Amino acid sequence: MMGNCQVRFLGGRDAATYALLPDNSCIRYWMDNKGIGKYELSAYCAVLAKQFPFAGKLNSQARQASAERAWSAITGFYDNCKKGKPGKKGFPRFKKHQTHGSVEYKTTGWKLSEDRRTITFSDGFKAGNFKLWGTRDLHFYQLSQIKRVRVVRRADGYYVQFCLDIERVEKREPTGKTIGLDVGLTHFYTDSGGQTVENPRYLRKSEKALKRLSKRFSRTKKASNNRAKARNRLSRKHLKVSRQRKDFAVKLAKCVIESNDLVAYEDLQVRNMVKNTKLSKSISDAAWSAFRDWLEYFGKVFGVVTVAVPPHYTSANCSNCRGVVKKSLSQRTHRCHHCGFVLDRDSNAARNILELALRTVGHTGTLNASGDIDLCLGEETPLSKPNRGKRKSRK
Ligand SMILES: [Zn+2]
Repeated sequence: MMGNCQVRFLGGRDAATYALLPDNSCIRYWMDNKGIGKYELSAYCAVLAKQFPFAGKLNSQARQASAERAWSAITGFYDNCKKGKPGKKGFPRFKKHQTHGSVEYKTTGWKLSEDRRTITFSDGFKAGNFKLWGTRDLHFYQLSQIKRVRVVRRADGYYVQFCLDIERVEKREPTGKTIGLDVGLTHFYTDSGGQTVENPRYLRKSEKALKRLSKRFSRTKKASNNRAKARNRLSRKHLKVSRQRKDFAVKLAKCVIESNDLVAYEDLQVRNMVKNTKLSKSISDAAWSAFRDWLEYFGKVFGVVTVAVPPHYTSANCSNCRGVVKKSLSQRTHRCHHCGFVLDRDSNAARNILELALRTVGHTGTLNASGDIDLCLGEETPLSKPNRGKRKSRK
């Protein structure tokens, strides 16, 4: 497991954007010479280094990393085409200059100071020393555990990320509880016990602010100073929302994982969900997918089973008798006309999700009994337990 330690830089030169040239040139080179492979691209990077002084200054590993990124964009495009995926194929795009630049170093080109509060970049740019600002203490780790150092640019400054090769494992007492979660429109989620968690309040507030800022941005004249300022304001707001989202997701996910032995949720295609044009919807979808990622992360850390079940029929089925009860989206209550069971629509779905998860997880390890063999066929089966090993008949 790779841990990510983000430390903030103070001050800074434009180190991150330097890496953009090789990326873009690689894609341009690939567009002009269709059919070339990864090795040609890598070789091209060396040629670039000679042609462009600043590509030459870049640490060779960082240069290679950016060729690799360009290559993964290209192969991703080919894969999508091969699979015949409908919709966008993701044709490799040129990176824009202004935002989200990054430079990645492996083991050379950077050095931490003795007290680990300063980092020095020693490649051709002579970017120099930077003070590190952050909460994670790098003394905690061995230098050999740092596999990659990535300099990233965000709307509010430069950050350096240390990718650490550590296995985070935490002890936890089993609670004997299992839970199913259903994402809804009205609540962030409803669980199989009928409890709900509300959508975080910042969503509404951020939605308004984002709308206002993006309107202001679109009104500015192209290539003007005001446009650059408005863009920065807008991306700072986006950054803030994504940080709030992360905070919410981490805390809630940790809480859910710590108090359950198995957590089940729907395997939703977030990509489809985000397509929705309504802003608040897309924000809450992003919050959900961040939450899910953290559930899976903490599941690994704490040794809790996490199951993503296929999202079909989870709300249509009756969680009491398995009968099908079709309902429209506006119908908030599940009323079974087979068995008379009445429950909140989302709770019913959450119960179905949990039950589906328990069925799919099944057995891991060596299997002694094959499911097809009726264990009762043997004569040694005691008569007092006629049902032993037989599948339960569905009521
Ligand atoms: Zn029923």
